[in-house]
Amino acid sequence: MLNNYGIDIWSDENFIIEDGLAKVNHKCKPSLISLVRQIREQDFKGPLLLRFPHITKKQISTLYDTFNNSISEYNYKGNFNAVFPLKVNQLPNFVHPLIKNGEEFNYGLEAGSKAELVIAMTYNNSNSPITVNGFKDKEMIHLAFIAKSKGHDITVIIEGLNELETIIQVQSETNLPCPNIGLRVRLHSGGSGLWAKSGGINSKFGLSSTEIIEAYELLEENKMLEFLTMIHFHIGSDMNSIKPLKKALRESGHIYAELKNLGATSLNNINIGGGLAVEYSSYERTRFYSLREFASDVIFTLKDIAKQKGVDEPNIFTESGRFISAGSTVLITPVLELFSSEYDLKHLNLKENNPPLIAELNALYTDMIKRTAYEYMHDAMDHMESLLTLFDLGYIDLQDRSNAEILTHQIIKKAIALLEVEDYEDLKKLDENIQEKYLLNFSMFQSLPDYWGIDQEFPVMPLTHLDKKPTRSASLWDITCDSDGELPFNSQRPLYLHDVNLEKEDYFLGFFNVGAYQDTLGMKHNLFSQPTEVNVVFKENEVKLEKIIESQKIIDILDDIDYDTRDIKDRLKENLDTNTYQILKKYLNENSYLKTTWS
Ligand SMILES: *Cc1c(COP(=O)(O)O)cnc(C)c1O
Repeated sequence: MLNNYGIDIWSDENFIIEDGLAKVNHKCKPSLISLVRQIREQDFKGPLLLRFPHITKKQISTLYDTFNNSISEYNYKGNFNAVFPLKVNQLPNFVHPLIKNGEEFNYGLEAGSKAELVIAMTYNNSNSPITVNGFKDKEMIHLAFIAKSKGHDITVIIEGLNELETIIQVQSETNLPCPNIGLRVRLHSGGSGLWAKSGGINSKFGLSSTEIIEAYELLEENKMLEFLTMIHFHIGSDMNSIKPLKKALRESGHIYAELKNLGATSLNNINIGGGLAVEYSSYERTRFYSLREFASDVIFTLKDIAKQKGVDEPNIFTESGRFISAGSTVLITPVLELFSSEYDLKHLNLKENNPPLIAELNALYTDMIKRTAYEYMHDAMDHMESLLTLFDLGYIDLQDRSNAEILTHQIIKKAIALLEVEDYEDLKKLDENIQEKYLLNFSMFQSLPDYWGIDQEFPVMPLTHLDKKPTRSASLWDITCDSDGELPFNSQRPLYLHDVNLEKEDYFLGFFNVGAYQDTLGMKHNLFSQPTEVNVVFKENEVKLEKIIESQKIIDILDDIDYDTRDIKDRLKENLDTNTYQILKKYLNENSYLKTTWS
């Protein structure tokens, strides 16, 4: 049985398997391994982050096209707008192409902090909207006024009445033009999925109905109603079902209509936040709606409410981030080691007279044929248990123990090879005991923080060997010295990889859909920094590697955490001859990831 690692579920046809290789399904369809080799030839070793701006572009146009089609279909009078929430990925290699690719749609940016607002007001396309969410102080609100006076179409969405009071204050203290104002509503309907707490009556964010009325009155008193343009909600990330969205739409749609009927004449936008889900699993679909369904539900519901309450159909804003960015980035990790390679037959050193159980293991190994493979493998594992007990009691020596370990591993390997894994189901029963551990040159904490923190599954697949049966049930280990840096084998969602000899060939794993949230959430645990990243750009029929940013040098990492690097160098220089110090200096100027023959 060949394994396609669930690519039909998670790749959205961005990647395909062809000739045993994982390929980018675009233009000249380069294999990922060919890109990796090109980068490594330039001496960038260690893990890599490959970014594919054409995938981001595809997501942006899919989002706009789907909504605009629904708008025509329902003859909806409002228009469709979208902004990218910078929280999801703020890095320049991602953001610059995003802004360029979004220009034709007037795709804008959403900021949730002062630093993100600075990115938005510096780089946003001039005709595209900016929305500002999150908790704000006077300085952040002042920043929004400054953005407005630079000519940006900016809407400050308030999370509480105090923010509105601050807007009124800044308005009176400066003579800058006032940005548009949005109200984030605290819904009584909650979200779905892991992040449901972003919505709901007890949510961290938004105004209660009493506060909405107060906000309206405050704006009216201060003759600022003309700036109230938007109602906003966000029910949480990665919604697996559309039902909570429909409820939230009804609730916020009625709030919009009521305020409009009260006299909020400039109010003409509903911002439905983010939450569009991405398929992360290699085993089953987890998103139970299509984008088309999502768009029609939004349009249909808002149209219905507008009709019922006799108000204009609102323009629609979305802030989906995960949907736009996840697919654009692939993390590639070299496999450094298969742990069982320590148990090579060449190290076997049998004695003239071996303890009976070891002699038995040797016989199991030699005599095993396909028919007896399961049985002998079981026997071997039982013997191994007993031999370890004998060692603890002092009845066998270290050489015996080494022989026992080698023979047991070889028996397992031979059994798997003989069985040719025709029978995954049967083999699965044994999986827990016959796993292979793959050591990967990366840090889970830096590159897959959501796996470490919230058990987020990410699709994983080798870049090569895809025309061969994977025969080893795999657990994956990173190079941090933290035992949490492991993706253990899970028999419910088994990962099978190939039995490779790393002395003869290289083997890389790709983790897909890592473009949302992982980059800046990643942490420098053990002082491993962001991997080397590269933008892969397609020009006609060739591929260009652009904007290579090398993983941080050791000395810069230390500088970042506020060590005095001059002091470090001075101290290191002491008691070393010049030559040795030069070598040491070279090491300080390299990154922390491991460098072995292949890695
Ligand atoms: C996080 C966030 C988003 C993005 O959510 P996704 O699930 O990534 O689409 C949008 N809007 C707001 C207000 C957010 O806080």
